Amino acid sequence: MDCLFCKIIAGEIPSNKIYEDEKILCFKDIAPQADVHALVIPKEHICCANAVTKENSAAVAYIFEKIPEITKSMGITDYRIINNCGEGAGQTVKHLHFHILSGSNLNEKLV
Ligand code: AMP
Ligand code: ZN
Repeated sequence: MDCLFCKIIAGEIPSNKIYEDEKILCFKDIAPQADVHALVIPKEHICCANAVTKENSAAVAYIFEKIPEITKSMGITDYRIINNCGEGAGQTVKHLHFHILSGSNLNEKLV
């Protein structure tokens, strides 16, 4: 499958890993939009939030279960989680991912 994040999971493309276990991977975004900018992805290929189903939603629940632990290990307590679903919303990599953003430059709020 021609998926950038699947290739990162497979180790075919290098990444700056923050956390990894058998179900998920967290790594630094290559083009940080904040002081801290990480991505959390399920190892199972799910293209986007629109493709989350009863069958695969445990992967999403697991990501959110782990985020407090991962962010704590990164030394952050205040952070923003963003998911872009679909090209119209700015999704460029079609493998479900959650942006974790933190730092002093998060003043501009969209919502
Ligand atoms: P999105 O625009 O929501 O699909 O987010 C995709 C994110 O992946 C962007 O913030 C990119 O900077 C990031 N990205 C693209 N290629 C890589 C890579 N090789 N390693 C880490 N992050 C990447
Ligand atoms: Zn993928």
